[in-house]
Amino acid sequence: MHPMIKPALRRGWRDLCTVQFGMTPAHALTLGPVDTATGSFLDLLDGTRGLELLREEARRMDLPDGHVDRLVRRLSRAGLLDDSRGGGPDADALRGKREVLDRLRPDLASLTLTTSGPGDALGRLAARGSTRVQVRGAGRVGAVLAALLSGAGVGEVDVRDVGRVEPWDVAPGGLPAEAVGDRRDETARRVARRAAPGRPPRRTARSRLEEDSSGFSLVVLAPRDDVAVHAPDPSAAEPLLSSGTPHLYAGVVEGTGVVGPLVLPGETGCAGCLQEDRTDRDPTWPRLVAQWRSGRQRRVGACDLTLATTVASLAAAHALAFLDGGVPSSADARWEVSVPGLHWRARPVRAHPACPCGAAENSKGEHTSEDGRSHETMAVHEPSEESCRMTDAKRPAGTWRAHV
Ligand SMILES: [Zn+2]
Repeated sequence: MHPMIKPALRRGWRDLCTVQFGMTPAHALTLGPVDTATGSFLDLLDGTRGLELLREEARRMDLPDGHVDRLVRRLSRAGLLDDSRGGGPDADALRGKREVLDRLRPDLASLTLTTSGPGDALGRLAARGSTRVQVRGAGRVGAVLAALLSGAGVGEVDVRDVGRVEPWDVAPGGLPAEAVGDRRDETARRVARRAAPGRPPRRTARSRLEEDSSGFSLVVLAPRDDVAVHAPDPSAAEPLLSSGTPHLYAGVVEGTGVVGPLVLPGETGCAGCLQEDRTDRDPTWPRLVAQWRSGRQRRVGACDLTLATTVASLAAAHALAFLDGGVPSSADARWEVSVPGLHWRARPVRAHPACPCGAAENSKGEHTSEDGRSHETMAVHEPSEESCRMTDAKRPAGTWRAHV
């Protein structure tokens, strides 16, 4: 182990013996009491020295025997320590790809804030490289979203859509102007590939066909059609529910951007739950939806460029939070924002007892062995869920969340 105090957290002394790591309430911690010698010693924890060398340095500074190990243990338990050599074999492999890692360095630093143990952040970043995401819909939202996921280190980003790139699909970071007239899906896949920090393997049409929607860590539904955004069709998500594939909705409808829900099949509310709940609250809802769906498709609907990009970014952030092992706030909720006020609000998407997805039953704690399939998909994320819980777990004595 080569201990390193997480460099993402700025350090400051609150008084002579209390040090604060971090500035913002979300991740700041204070540590104390810390004597002056130990305070100076903290500077040596920069990831360049192993424990043996650190013990030697401590002896030279007249720090008592065992002090280094106690300090390292204490910092580690507080979640303040990284290991510049840790994270496992996948992390080692990523460390060997200097150019890729340099591109992802700020993302890695950010991951140190949401992981606990030394080396966990790089391990998590390396794990992103083995995830596969499919984005359905390559308009202003979907294409940017696909590029963001790819740029953030997701191993494979597949994009599905039909038709050709129209001038109004063009967006900075998404479909480029020079691609107008080209196939929309191929162009979006190329955009995603180019955004990748490494060189992801180019998938052939055949391998895409064979794998279709199975085996994806997450499917993002980012339809260009505004009715599909506002009232997602439960039958379209049926194969995802039955295969236990987590999926996330995102899009723009009129002047409103929508992110969520993130559907964990059988566990959180889905498009069917949303439909049932809306029908409960407004009996005319099905009649309206039927009219919207059968209405003539307008040539170009409303889709504010900045709203679309905001939705793409926030949806990508929720997707990453999930892929990294957390459960973001879009599980059980739709985040919505409307122009011009731009206040974000969360609308709950509750598991509905009339929906066949089974989330309502499971949320009552009636788990059966038959729902193992969806849990199998989730099992991959268990270790990281644990570390996410760690974030909110009780802090060891001597450390506490800073009041900033
Ligand atoms: Zn449901």
